[in-house]
Amino acid sequence: MKLISELVRKFSTPCLHCGSFLKSEGLLCESCRNKVETYIKPDLEMRTLGVFEAYMLFRWNPGTSDLLSAQLAGLKGFRTNFDWNYWANRFVSRRIHKALPTRRIILIPAPSSTGRTGDHAYQWAQALGKATGAEICLCLTKKTRAHQRGATRENRVQVEFALDENSSMVSEFWSDALWVFVDDIVTTGSTALAAYEALGRPPHFEAWALAQRTLACGD
Ligand SMILES: [Zn+2]
Repeated sequence: MKLISELVRKFSTPCLHCGSFLKSEGLLCESCRNKVETYIKPDLEMRTLGVFEAYMLFRWNPGTSDLLSAQLAGLKGFRTNFDWNYWANRFVSRRIHKALPTRRIILIPAPSSTGRTGDHAYQWAQALGKATGAEICLCLTKKTRAHQRGATRENRVQVEFALDENSSMVSEFWSDALWVFVDDIVTTGSTALAAYEALGRPPHFEAWALAQRTLACGD
């Protein structure tokens, strides 16, 4: 019975972008997903943030691609496992191609303010964990403080993370592991920098995101 309901579900939800019912799994039909594939380059997008690199699969300007926006917005909804895993595989094959260090990889999802593990950064981390075999460490907690008025919207709230004192993994593997901060969307990079600081600036650190969101006025 479960199998039948699965099949019905697969074929009864239309493509998020074009409305086609001619699809198998995932949020988009094959033809729309193939179009999204053309936005990915052979290499990951890369940004240097201070002393570490942030890698992103997509470069996303919300004003210029309805299709990519539909895919990314859809990931915030329900039944998204197929899509997270699909794009995680695309991400990881490219990251491996760029000489991924042969050391223990530990994924740290960006903590949500609610502290729940069902949010997007966590789903992305789970998919990346599946694709790499890396483990997930929930060692950061979020604390935000409002900044003075007059600052730009991006800077008004300064993100700060605290290291969970109960996480022995951090002290145990601090210098040996590759610590990967995982977030679904990177905008300014300040969140990844905050994570790097909270971890005590480990020697091997990078950030993996699904998309780099570019601002309307360029970068
Ligand atoms: Zn479609």
